[in-house]
Amino acid sequence: MQHKKIIRIMFLLFIVFFLGGCSAETKIKSLHIDSQDVTLDFDQSQTFNVNIEPAKTNIEEEDIVLSDNTLITLTKVSDHSFTIKTHQNEGLATLYIMKDDVESNKITINVVNTKKAKEKAAQEEQAAKEAAEKERQEAEAAAKALEEQKQAEASQANESTPNNAVPNTSTVYLPKNGKKYHSNPNCSNMKSPRAVSLEEAQSLGYEPCSKCY
Ligand SMILES: [Zn+2]
Repeated sequence: MQHKKIIRIMFLLFIVFFLGGCSAETKIKSLHIDSQDVTLDFDQSQTFNVNIEPAKTNIEEEDIVLSDNTLITLTKVSDHSFTIKTHQNEGLATLYIMKDDVESNKITINVVNTKKAKEKAAQEEQAAKEAAEKERQEAEAAAKALEEQKQAEASQANESTPNNAVPNTSTVYLPKNGKKYHSNPNCSNMKSPRAVSLEEAQSLGYEPCSKCY
């Protein structure tokens, strides 16, 4: 009888150690969320697959850690995957799995308002177009102003040319008698004509000689 009891105790101890060994084997060896960092729009869902070793271990809702519940919330958890949903707040959130003191890789979720971003990009494109058009018009106006200035300067030069071309300072000759001035001092047999400027001759009331002018 004593012998049987010892065998029974040994058997029970064997069972206890065997189960203990099994429970030690169920300890998680690796835990990995199969995803890169992701960018999500408002009100968008995303499912993540989880690689877990040993494979028979399942993840539970309480294993999933979300850094910011105002950006993302958990909507579904199954054995080896889970799904999150974004809200209408922009920002960065991180998520990871913590199970039996084993921590998975961390995934960063960038929540952006794609619609707003597109509108902003369209506005910026429009503003750039308008700025380019304004710049073109200003360049055109500047070129036109420069051309007008050149033309004004040219016509002013043309107007001033006759005055410069015919100076009143040329020398003429006045006879002792008569009211004509001459360009040639020997014209009309003048004797010792007085040399004066054309301007002076004109101011004295002399008129040009019809022979030498
Ligand atoms: Zn003359």
